[in-house]
Amino acid sequence: MKITRVETTALSVPVERSFVGSVKFNAFNPIVVDVFTDEGLSAHGLTMVFNGMNVKPLKACLDAVAETIIGADVFRWAENWETLWKTARRIGHNGFGVQSMAAVDMALWNLRAKALEMPLSRLLGGFRDEVPVYASNYLWRDRTIDELQKEAAGLVAEGFPAVKMRMGWKSHKEDIARLAAIREAVGPDIDIMVDVLWVWTTYESIVMGREMEKYGVYWLEDPIPSHDLAGLSEIARSLDMPVVSGEDISLKRNFREMFERKATDIAMIDVQAVGGVTEWMRVAAMADAFNLPVVSHLFDEFSIHLVAAIPNGLWTEHMPWWDAIYQEPPQPEKGVMKVPQKPGIGYELDRDAMARFKM
Ligand SMILES: [Mg+2]
Repeated sequence: MKITRVETTALSVPVERSFVGSVKFNAFNPIVVDVFTDEGLSAHGLTMVFNGMNVKPLKACLDAVAETIIGADVFRWAENWETLWKTARRIGHNGFGVQSMAAVDMALWNLRAKALEMPLSRLLGGFRDEVPVYASNYLWRDRTIDELQKEAAGLVAEGFPAVKMRMGWKSHKEDIARLAAIREAVGPDIDIMVDVLWVWTTYESIVMGREMEKYGVYWLEDPIPSHDLAGLSEIARSLDMPVVSGEDISLKRNFREMFERKATDIAMIDVQAVGGVTEWMRVAAMADAFNLPVVSHLFDEFSIHLVAAIPNGLWTEHMPWWDAIYQEPPQPEKGVMKVPQKPGIGYELDRDAMARFKM
């Protein structure tokens, strides 16, 4: 089966109510890549930016990388990845180079699973058919304490066993007060993850971490910039709760160093940042060799399959940022997401919605 054509489409999906994470988010911009074959089959992958920033340059990079796959035999997956990398590496060993090849690699795996008429998770390993899921798209930095408590209680009522909040925008004292308020709202049995989005120092992370442990925080995510492996391993050694890092790390060679230096207790692998499904699976296997659990980041529609495929998958993050482009988007139910049993990823794009969101 050979690729005959590729097509990319940039979209803008507005956010209903803006929120502050690493920045203030108003819109998400998935760029979809469709790959077509000589046997009439097609499948999609995607990459994304936000707030309309850098859509044109990313689409240009994606077009350049995607066209190199035309004529390729889709089942030579390792060769396909190297073909994409040859062009992607000239654009960047992280950022848009890797993001572009990731999108095409995702489309190719979706296609292979469709061609073999099995769910992607089964093609990749088939360890299980449902994955634990935590609520991530809530409890943002700009919400008031009252809003945090109402939202957190609502998530528990919906059946989520774990919720994620963000810190690092307010004073330390306020951050701890916000954590205390959420703990009060969810009760003792719900897990609370805390994401600091890279803004503290090593010292602050250890001091704050000790305080946070009193509230039974489940993990401390990205307390400092992820290139500071010495700092991360010091934090990991100093605290009882696990440190989580990796969502902005590209390629297996960078994860190798992170694991060797014990800079994270749980590997968070983002299918876009790492370089696609191929590289995600390789990093997950390497994490297993270091006895590390793996969690996903964004891209529910692919991440469900990835976490379900491997023996060391721990959690899937639920982030419904571009649900509106799917006919039936991923749905958490009582703390799990079921792997669709249709061929491929099992989530089909809503082409009418895409036409409305097209840039
Ligand atoms: Mg994060």
